[in-house]
Amino acid sequence: MDEPGQGRPAAFIDRDGVINVERDYVHRIEDFELLPGAIPGLRTLQQAGYALVVVTNQAGIARGYYTEADFERLTAHMRHLLQAEGIQLTAVYHCPHHPSAGLGELRVDCECRKPAPGMLLRASRELGLSLTTSVLVGDKGSDIEAGRRAGLARCVLVRSGHAPGGDAMAAADATLDDLAQAAAWLTGAHPPRPHHPAAPLSVDAPLQDRP
Ligand SMILES: [Mg+2]
Ligand SMILES: [Zn+2]
Repeated sequence: MDEPGQGRPAAFIDRDGVINVERDYVHRIEDFELLPGAIPGLRTLQQAGYALVVVTNQAGIARGYYTEADFERLTAHMRHLLQAEGIQLTAVYHCPHHPSAGLGELRVDCECRKPAPGMLLRASRELGLSLTTSVLVGDKGSDIEAGRRAGLARCVLVRSGHAPGGDAMAAADATLDDLAQAAAWLTGAHPPRPHHPAAPLSVDAPLQDRP
């Protein structure tokens, strides 16, 4: 585990349901649709100094639904769309495995399929990232668990993909609508919004020490 302050912090971002609209096993360019919060959210995180690292489970490769080449082609398309908006992804990591489905060497109980933290740990090694100052945004409990197991500073759940369950929300530091809101929360541009809305502050509240 790294020392705090050593290395650059990363924002680890799940792909489907966070950057693009969740559809089963997205692998065709025509099925890749950016979510409205993606560009503003990624821009906020980039401007705050986070390395943008996408971490995505792609068991569709193990299952034979699509190939590594299909995935790489879609990744190039995603990078192109984001670059046009001034957003540079530092890296994209994917897990092509599945523990019980598919054939051949991709059918394996690997270290990288979330909720395992393998992709985050590998990115930290290869890119010189500081995990303890890094953050994660995902739409599933397995995303949050991967971030926890890697020792990240903050793990935020968003509602823009899979509807998050109570366990996932309990494990996350916050649950917000989309990547734009998550980025604003993580960079302090908006006040923290917990799972349950706090009682609204009133400017007319009587002062406790008023005579
Ligand atoms: Mg997802
Ligand atoms: Zn894997």
